[in-house]
Order: sequence, then structure tokens, then C-alpha cells
Amino acid sequence: MIGDATVEDDRNKILIAKILIALPEEIRNKVLSEVLFVLLEVYGIAGCLSIPVPKGCKKIEQSFILLNFSLIEKQSEDCKMDFITHEIAHFILGHNKSMTYDPLAERKADDLVEKWGFNRVYNDYEQFERMAKINQKRQK
Ligand SMILES: [Zn+2]
Repeated sequence: MIGDATVEDDRNKILIAKILIALPEEIRNKVLSEVLFVLLEVYGIAGCLSIPVPKGCKKIEQSFILLNFSLIEKQSEDCKMDFITHEIAHFILGHNKSMTYDPLAERKADDLVEKWGFNRVYNDYEQFERMAKINQKRQK
């Protein structure tokens, strides 16, 4: 976990630890061994860095989750946990690795969030499908 060393960050790290404890063991182990949490200026992005390797070498990838707690500081602890769990769900579903936007990604992530016993982050998923359609038109 990377972030500024402030008291606030310590509290936020504890929040992430609480979520990991609440997740199924195999999910927790996968997240702990593969994801780097970066507490930074951008809130809520699950991504993946592909590190260039010489020809014939195995692919190296670093999954990461960017979190900006300043944007959600007024939310309750439960809400913060729902937001973070949502990003973990994107990682588990592999959404962080694809460069194309799946309009169903938010719904799928929230389905998993709910399965793990947390609350859904969104209630309107059609907004993402509408956004995806607008982006498709722009690219044509
Ligand atoms: Zn999302």
C-alpha cells in the first residue's frame, strides 16, 4: 500500500483491512498478493500496468487500485467500505485489465459487492449503457 503518511491515511488503511477481513478467504488472498493500493488524488480506479519485458520473458503485470479518500471523507465508514469493495470487485472480475469499457461492468461489480455482504454503489446502471453508446457514436 502506498500513500502519504498521515493519521488520516492510517485510518483509511484500517478501513481497507476491515474490508479484506470481511471478504471470502480466496478473494482476500488474491487481492493481498496481486493488488497495490495507491492512496492518491484520483478516487476509485482499478487498473493494471503491463511492464515491458524482453522477448521470450513472461509478461509482468501489476494490478492497482487508486483511492482518493478526500473525495469521500464526508461519507460514513460503511459507504467508504462499499466504494472500496466496488473497486476490489472490478479487479476480481478482470475489469482493470481491459482497455475497452463494458457498459455492464458497473452492474457486474455491484452484483459481486452485494454477494460479499456490502451495499451496491450505484442504483442507475442505464447511465453507463447510455454513456457507452455516446462514446461509440463519437468513435465512428
Ligand atoms: Zn465501478
